[in-house]
Amino acid sequence: MDAWWRWGNVVADAILAGNGGPSVIERLQKDRLRRLVQWARRASPLYAELYADVPEHRPLRLADLPPVTRAALMARFDDWVTDREVTLDRVNAFVADPRHVGHPFRDKYAVFTSSGTTGIPGLFVQDPDALAVYDALGTARMGALAPLWDWRTSMGGHRFALIAATGGHFAGVVTWERLRSLHPGFAKNGIVIPVTAPLDEIVRQLEAFRPTVLASYATVLRALAERKHAGELLCSPRTIWTGGEWMSPQCRRYVERAFGARVAGDYGASEFMNIAFECEKGELHVNSDWVILEPVDERGAAVPVGEPSATVLLTNLANRVQPFIRYDLGDSVTAIPGACGCGRPFPRIRIDGRRDEILRLLDADGERIPVLPLALSTAIEEGAGVHRFQVEQVGLRRLHLRVEGASAAVLAKARKALADWLAGQGLPGIAITAQAARLAAHPVSGKFRQVYRKS
Ligand SMILES: [Zn+2]
Repeated sequence: MDAWWRWGNVVADAILAGNGGPSVIERLQKDRLRRLVQWARRASPLYAELYADVPEHRPLRLADLPPVTRAALMARFDDWVTDREVTLDRVNAFVADPRHVGHPFRDKYAVFTSSGTTGIPGLFVQDPDALAVYDALGTARMGALAPLWDWRTSMGGHRFALIAATGGHFAGVVTWERLRSLHPGFAKNGIVIPVTAPLDEIVRQLEAFRPTVLASYATVLRALAERKHAGELLCSPRTIWTGGEWMSPQCRRYVERAFGARVAGDYGASEFMNIAFECEKGELHVNSDWVILEPVDERGAAVPVGEPSATVLLTNLANRVQPFIRYDLGDSVTAIPGACGCGRPFPRIRIDGRRDEILRLLDADGERIPVLPLALSTAIEEGAGVHRFQVEQVGLRRLHLRVEGASAAVLAKARKALADWLAGQGLPGIAITAQAARLAAHPVSGKFRQVYRKS
């Protein structure tokens, strides 16, 4: 009941903010930021150190606070979190058991792990208030999906299928399991299919279940749309939801044509679940009363509106147990100028993905297939149990795989996991060379990208 109460409060607040216009949103954002920074200074030894030279007495400016990276935060996990009962050892022990997926850590927290596109696995602890915010934003700001979310009329009639990374505590599947326990409708009317299953098996399960709502990553939807075009997939979901990966407009149109259904997307991360939602006009709006996004260039300077950024700094205004303040998320984001035709007051963005991490491989028909890093990394992680690896595209049908400190057997396993997954994506016969080697750093940013195109 506690979760419902929190959820109800935040839903009411979210509706008021949306109706209040830009000045109300700005005031909420400022007030929440001020309190978050105060809290972080007091309760996180790491932030206390980082902000030691930032004066407390004058009005807070975001630009005065030093940005943080996943590597720096994870390296000092126990000093970063604000609950001294939450330690790296305890969280690691919790996530080591897949049976814990969807269950609370220390009776109240949710824990997400990430597949780590920077090569450093992340552990994300979400407190009950943050979870209430994510759930409420998902409910109050469905935008393009709003007709689905009329619980009274729709829950009973819809059948949800999620195709996602399931072999760990990934945000998508943890949230799915949490919602299933909160809403019995989900438990009855939903299935989860592992993204790493062969495409034929995914198709078989979809045909058996016949979902009305289908949710997955762009690359999976693209592969399913090909089956649909070919008449090899008969189920006809009415709504298709995409998340977790960047989806190109071409890919979206292809999937929409294949299924004759609307594709709706959102933008989220393990660091903040509902960063932006899509409106009826197909535009992404940032939930800026609860999250701050700062598109910046390679040197960390603000990028003008309308230009794609090198990366984006994220501030999560909802989660207190593990503060993310000016956190380098790594995505390329463009702020869109002007107001949206839908009339919503929340700022618009476009996601450009992690540009150098989006592979474009030629299939047997000579068509370029975009391959995004998330599902590819997951396939290797789950298939071979390795995290320190890199996949570099060195040709139109050629990849090079590096695994740090791998034995010949582990290397072969990782290579096979990659080849099998690619075959499942309609890309059989891609040449893969593999070596046990140190990871290569980006010559400019020094980042260890997990998946990237040779530049
Ligand atoms: Zn809009």
